Amino acid sequence: MSGDLRDGRIVIVGASLAGLRAAETLREKGFAGSLTLVGEDPRPPYDRPPLSKQVLLGRVPAEDTGLPLRRPVDAQWKLGVRATGLDPIEKRVLLANGEQLPFDRLLITTGTRARPWPNPAEAALDGVFTLRTSEDAGRIAERLDAGPRRVLVIGAGFTGSEIASACRERGLDVTVAERGPAPLVGALGGSFGALAAKLQRAHGVDLRCGVTVTALTGNGRLTGAELSDGSRIEADIAVVALGAIRNTEWLAESGLAAGPRGLACDAGCRAFNMYGIVTDDVFVAGDVARFPHPLFEYQLLSLEHWGNAVEQAEVAAHNMVSPGPLRRPHLAVPAFWSSQFGLNIKSVGVPTFSDQVVLAQGSPKEARLVAVYGYRGRVTAAVSVNQAKSLEYYQRLIETAAPFPPEPVGTDRPEPMTPVPSDVPDPAVLSHGPTVALTGHLPDRRLTLVRR
Ligand SMILES: Cc1cc2nc3c(=O)[nH]c(=O)nc-3n(C[C@H](O)[C@H](O)[C@H](O)COP(=O)(O)OP(=O)(O)OC[C@H]3O[C@@H](n4cnc5c(N)ncnc54)[C@H](O)[C@@H]3O)c2cc1C
Repeated sequence: MSGDLRDGRIVIVGASLAGLRAAETLREKGFAGSLTLVGEDPRPPYDRPPLSKQVLLGRVPAEDTGLPLRRPVDAQWKLGVRATGLDPIEKRVLLANGEQLPFDRLLITTGTRARPWPNPAEAALDGVFTLRTSEDAGRIAERLDAGPRRVLVIGAGFTGSEIASACRERGLDVTVAERGPAPLVGALGGSFGALAAKLQRAHGVDLRCGVTVTALTGNGRLTGAELSDGSRIEADIAVVALGAIRNTEWLAESGLAAGPRGLACDAGCRAFNMYGIVTDDVFVAGDVARFPHPLFEYQLLSLEHWGNAVEQAEVAAHNMVSPGPLRRPHLAVPAFWSSQFGLNIKSVGVPTFSDQVVLAQGSPKEARLVAVYGYRGRVTAAVSVNQAKSLEYYQRLIETAAPFPPEPVGTDRPEPMTPVPSDVPDPAVLSHGPTVALTGHLPDRRLTLVRR
């Protein structure tokens, strides 16, 4: 590459939200070299949040979710083709069709995919779905249009809860099976989860918590499911909503710090290699990235938030065409939203980074509230229900590490404001084992090996 950072070859692997926003930013910042976007999905970039909302409700066709272009990107698009490897020495991306793409700088935005049902024969039953792509959403919506007798949703995280909400809004019978004690516990903790459980039941969801689905049954076509409590459910559609898997397998031989939790990078979006040394030509953004944030003790955060994908992509693109002193950190406060059961839920900060939570405004009865989360005496997150306008205030408290519990504000504050344990999943309990092992004893002989 020439000394001019505005020239040369940039390849972006992952042609969705983060990839597209990065491409636009590169051109906006004056990048005049060649730009190639590689995407496994054959469709041009589209928006995923409507897939579990308007598309499942039948209000928007799955094909109409395309992301608007903010400006021309003058790029070569390679869609419907998967990247299978990365040669970091020769600086080439290897594609499934045998092509090799040389690059001067690479941006990785390969995001996540839906975790499949673990039994392949059961997963192949007609009527069993996951939801990540517009094609998935289109196929589920078509089945919902046909008026199934009952829909089974496996997993009550945000996606599962939104699917259940869409089914109830359509007037369909729906059972939700959740291994944890309540919906949304993994993201918002037990106290909030208890509210979510009440809400789902009030909307007619047959919510089963503390159970797992042990088998999906049918003969070619799904007829039902067996649960760990011995019960059986008749259903002709099952949507598996068991969370996401980060698309990092294609990087296994790349020497980068890629694993089940994502690809680790610094605050400037530069990928780490497997020794924890920062690279200078490989950048990462969006759902596939793990990045340190000073507000959260520099722990590496893996987020699945639309807003983070956009902001991190913009920072990565800026840094890809800027010399060292002009590079920027990705320090945005994480934020996401969800709509379900007629409620607008918004979050700022990281609710799972907490030990306590307090109801700071409103009440569950009014279906209008703000819950504020704290960790070791400072504010780390806030979640609003139908009260989004208050979140700007709490975001400032998070940004300034304000004391927790916060000073009471507003006329709708409950008396007394008593913090309770936030009951979030214990971060000390690992969800993945170590994936890298050290060999050798002398410092200069030590190597890291990826364990699979
Ligand atoms: C149903 C649904 C509802 C959502 N609702 C909300 C919401 O309400 N609020 C919110 O904040 N967020 C929501 N999200 C999350 C949000 O959509 C994501 O944070 C966002 O899509 C992340 O963008 P990304 O570009 O990082 O990754 P992705 O959108 O996952 O895109 C990654 C792209 O990379 C491609 N790819 C993967 N591997 C390869 C490879 N080896 N070679 C080539 N291409 C590859 C994939 O095909 C994909 O197109 C929702 C997500 C889903 C699925």
